[in-house]
Amino acid sequence: MASVAVTGLSKRYGDFVAVDDISFEVQPGEVFALLGPNGAGKTTTVEILEGFRKRDAGEVAVLGFDPANMATSLQLRERMGIVLQELAVEPLLTVREVLRRNAGYFCNPRSVDELIELVGLTEKAGARVKNLSGGQQRRLDLALGIVGNPELIFLDEPTTGFDPSARRGAWDLVESLAGEGTTVILTTHYMDEAEALADRVSVIAEGRIVASGTPQSLGGRDLGDAKIRFRIAPGHDDAELHFDNMSRVGELVEIVTDHEVETLHQLTGWSIDNGIALIGLVVERLTLEDIYLQLTGYSNEGLAERPSPSALTKEVP
Ligand code: ADP
Repeated sequence: MASVAVTGLSKRYGDFVAVDDISFEVQPGEVFALLGPNGAGKTTTVEILEGFRKRDAGEVAVLGFDPANMATSLQLRERMGIVLQELAVEPLLTVREVLRRNAGYFCNPRSVDELIELVGLTEKAGARVKNLSGGQQRRLDLALGIVGNPELIFLDEPTTGFDPSARRGAWDLVESLAGEGTTVILTTHYMDEAEALADRVSVIAEGRIVASGTPQSLGGRDLGDAKIRFRIAPGHDDAELHFDNMSRVGELVEIVTDHEVETLHQLTGWSIDNGIALIGLVVERLTLEDIYLQLTGYSNEGLAERPSPSALTKEVP
């Protein structure tokens, strides 16, 4: 049985359709990431699964339960863990006190001391919650989400505000939970996080799932699309150059192609024929972020529309 099965789920707020007929399944032990821009409908979807919001249409089963069924909500709560972006925890309690207290709500909780070690808060076990740094509070949120030893956890932007090493620590923790067989449903804005952790990703935009797959295969990433990038030699900014799927901002050029050998042949031929160097020429596979930007509405035909064309400038010598 799937840990989560969603069929034809819809949710509106007034006339506005926030989630529009989406379906997906998450298998036991799988790490599933829901990606999408702000306002796409991620929180609405996840909160329906968690039992915090009501759906308007569709079928939802979480660990076999309907999260909208109040009669079984305690049974479901016992078996799932929720890591919210900011948990309201009493600021004057210590880390250990909070975890001990919450462990008491569950039939089969984790050992509090082991948990504190697992999330890397050993040195802060006796510290009051109000004195934790932002990253330490997030680790406490994570610990609170798994204190009940859940079969399924929901992680909402789990590493926002973490420094790089804390982030790695959180990733290791998610991997070890998944290794123990815990099902993980993750929302994140970080493509590298989805790539590192998720077995499967669904991209949601304007309330609909626009693509699903492994991070490696999403949106045809594995089917050969490549990105060719270079800078046209100084003084030739206005040289005529035409390729399909080409973006050009001044001297910076990017071509997305599924025939990179032919494209490179034409391109290098153009360079030699015209005596114009292709500075910093590189061929790359599309990144998960490229695919994500395509799927969620940033076209690859406009470098200028991209959030940070300056990133490109930095990478080209
Ligand atoms: P995401 O988590 O992907 O940012 P949300 O699920 O929070 O997206 O929101 C999806 C859309 O529904 C947004 O346009 C948002 O403004 C709208 N929305 C969310 N919650 C409410 C609400 N309680 N009332 C009205 N509109 C809402």
